[in-house]
Amino acid sequence: MDTDCSAKLLDELVTPTFVLSPEGKVVIWNRALERLTGVLSAAVLGTDRHWHAFYPEPRPCLADLVLQGKMTDSETLYAQAYDLNGTAIASYAENWIEVPHTGARLYVGINAGAVFDDRGDLIGVVETINDMTAKKRAELALERLASQDGLTGLANRRVLDDVLVREWRRMARDGSEISAILIDVDCFKRYNDCLGHQAGDDCLRRISKAIGSSTFRPADLAARYGGEEFAVILPNTNLDGAAIVVERIRAAVAGLALHHPDSLVGDCVTVSIGVASTIPSLTTSPESLLTLADKRLYKAKANGRNCAVFE
Ligand code: GH3
Ligand code: MG
Ligand code: MG
Repeated sequence: MDTDCSAKLLDELVTPTFVLSPEGKVVIWNRALERLTGVLSAAVLGTDRHWHAFYPEPRPCLADLVLQGKMTDSETLYAQAYDLNGTAIASYAENWIEVPHTGARLYVGINAGAVFDDRGDLIGVVETINDMTAKKRAELALERLASQDGLTGLANRRVLDDVLVREWRRMARDGSEISAILIDVDCFKRYNDCLGHQAGDDCLRRISKAIGSSTFRPADLAARYGGEEFAVILPNTNLDGAAIVVERIRAAVAGLALHHPDSLVGDCVTVSIGVASTIPSLTTSPESLLTLADKRLYKAKANGRNCAVFE
């Protein structure tokens, strides 16, 4: 097969593909790539401006890294990247890109491989780009479904349990304190009974937001524990630190000023809170912390609600 024929075949290939010469200039830019990027071959052939089809500013593409033997840079440039067969001459990477010429946000899988002639001299590097956006979006949606509470958008119980086990081990290793806050909406059955389930749902959403915005550290987690109960996990935090978050939660819920027509506490929706802190050990279970916080929450209810109990 002659060179023209091979170029024609590549041109018609359904996979978006370009080829760089050993000097790093574009020698092939196929039609599928024109469609994906909105950049015509005439604009890039013979140049080293292939990056501008994918990125707003100059940066190496995977083919450049393979050509320059700089795969070590790939970790900082891609969401995922690895050498195939442990060789630096065939590589795979994945990335979100904002295609400059079409404005499309795509998740792409990229293959780049060096091609050699019979004498072992480099002929060029072929890069193919697979649009994996639909698959990635479905994956992310599934992850969200599996980890988010449907009503409130907070983390669900499964995430809470996972995070608690992980942080428990970490705190046990570091000898640091971890705190748990359990929050229960007061007289919520009466709220539902008076205003209806929809209003109840709306109330839970607003309280979730108030709780979610009361934690600031990246390692903190606010989750829906069940029904009208919420939990906050605070790694590296003792009872005094937890008290600061509790006060923020209390103030945020009070700030909502949600009218409760039939509360045993007052005119507005209030919460009762139980707090516990401990230095975990590998021989105790994280449930013991939640159990203690739950006992204190029960005390808060017994004390007349709308309060927090720390001991
Ligand atoms: P207490 O102050 O002692 O906590 O009283 P309470 O009425 O809040 O507690 P109880 O456990 O008796 O009732 C909880 C209510 O929360 C009953 C249940 O219908 C309601 N609830 C649980 N989950 C949801 C939800 O997702 N949406 C709505 N609207 N209500 C919910
Ligand atoms: Mg409850
Ligand atoms: Mg309640």
